[in-house]
Amino acid sequence: MKHQRGATARYARAALAIVGFAAWVDGCGGKSRELSERSAPGGSAGSKADTGGSANRNGGGDAESEAGADGLGNGGAGVAGSTFGSGGRSAGGSGNQAGETTNGGDTAGGAGLTDEAGRGGEMPSDALRHIVATDLNISLDTRVGVAILTLAASTSRGATFEIGDTTITSVTDDDGALGYTTHGATLDVDVPAASEELKITIEYRFKNHEAFDGISGRGYSFTWPYYCGNAFPCHSDPAEGTTFKLFVKGGTSIANFPTSIPFPAPAYMAAWAVENYFPLFPGTTKAGTQIEVFYRLGNPTGEADARAGTAHLVQAFDWLEQHVGPYAFGSTVGPIPVRWPDVTLDGMEHHPLWHVNETSMSDELVQVHEAAHGWFGNGVRLRCWEDFVLSEGTVSYLAARVLEEVGATTVSTAAWDGYESTLLAGQQSDSIAAWPSGCGSIDVLASGLFSSMTYVKGALFFRALEQRIGRPALDRALSTFYAQWVGEAAGLRDLLDVIHETSGYDAGPCAEAWLKRVQPQATVCD
Ligand SMILES: [Zn+2]
Repeated sequence: MKHQRGATARYARAALAIVGFAAWVDGCGGKSRELSERSAPGGSAGSKADTGGSANRNGGGDAESEAGADGLGNGGAGVAGSTFGSGGRSAGGSGNQAGETTNGGDTAGGAGLTDEAGRGGEMPSDALRHIVATDLNISLDTRVGVAILTLAASTSRGATFEIGDTTITSVTDDDGALGYTTHGATLDVDVPAASEELKITIEYRFKNHEAFDGISGRGYSFTWPYYCGNAFPCHSDPAEGTTFKLFVKGGTSIANFPTSIPFPAPAYMAAWAVENYFPLFPGTTKAGTQIEVFYRLGNPTGEADARAGTAHLVQAFDWLEQHVGPYAFGSTVGPIPVRWPDVTLDGMEHHPLWHVNETSMSDELVQVHEAAHGWFGNGVRLRCWEDFVLSEGTVSYLAARVLEEVGATTVSTAAWDGYESTLLAGQQSDSIAAWPSGCGSIDVLASGLFSSMTYVKGALFFRALEQRIGRPALDRALSTFYAQWVGEAAGLRDLLDVIHETSGYDAGPCAEAWLKRVQPQATVCD
């Protein structure tokens, strides 16, 4: 088990899924530096991707690992000079230079454009036009992506996307090139108002990112909380949900990813990992969800770590399905170990194949924490980053609770001890309430909200609530809330409303005491 005392302090830019609370308090070494300070060496990582074309190690084991799997993809390795089946027409001449770029698109009237479309950078745009579906085809060798986006109907013309530092090379629909303008990290596309959904195809080149802010040359992608634009055109608002189709190829090994995420998910949920893995199949839940656990072939302790960390995962997943509600993101789920260059990162909820730091694969708390994000954070999305505790607090509570329910009492007890120790150790330096007021006005990283304190305050609030209303009442509230909001974005206030409705207990004052103050004032819910 790793040792990370320093993680009780705030740390920005680490991963959403920092959950090794038990480890945080028994260890050594300060690891609270911001991730931006400990980003990976970009040079070596970049060269790794560059040389991918000659390193095809697509062996029988990997083919086996995907056979019969439900919706799992395997992008193959070392495929150079990829061609994509989608789109392919070039709007021509745009996107190579930095800064603002305008492309007029078809002036022959294709796709209902008028002649002034895209001219002079005055393009109108419905900035709220939602992305309903995202179909991605990523070539890691050529660093080229093709995104087919299905856009929601809109009474307004135009659509706006985050594009990070990618370079747009064409924007088309079935009728030809579309006018578009880039403004730094934003892309405005001139699509017409439409009473139905419509599809556009965006081709782009991307850069590798080694600070957990895009597509890493080390073989994984990581875009939480708002770096999806560096990987594909997107909306990073956690409230927005899109389905995904994903195909990734290239790199030095096999790209592993879910080929389809058929249920709306936040943009940061889609991800891949390029390694040679072998799967374990520890079991299937009563609802028929198959748990699949990967380990890296080159890791001598990989299999043992994977078995240890997922010893109760089937039972835990089953408990969540039975007590919270049906899982939304497919019928084959489980963890993929990733070699992140940062041992303070434990996991990231890339459902249905969540990522866990290879150094944390043996940690049952991490595994169940990431699994539970399938219900909170992903299944029910966050309306605002201010509601972060609805994801992390709920999941931190559930991870410890569920492990107790399925008999992993030692792990559960250590988790609760860890939460309490983290709260005590962090109180003096804490600077933000777990549930700040407002919506959309804070930066979840810069504000310090992404802190272990938010996780543990939330978990301890739910435990206080459980002790006040009883486990059956809390479970009933969580399942009612999930049924009402799955596939949508919600806030913590919505959950408090459901708790009140289903249990008769107004948890508002207790939530205020635990979550609205920097220093929680409550230990129990009165
Ligand atoms: Zn988490």
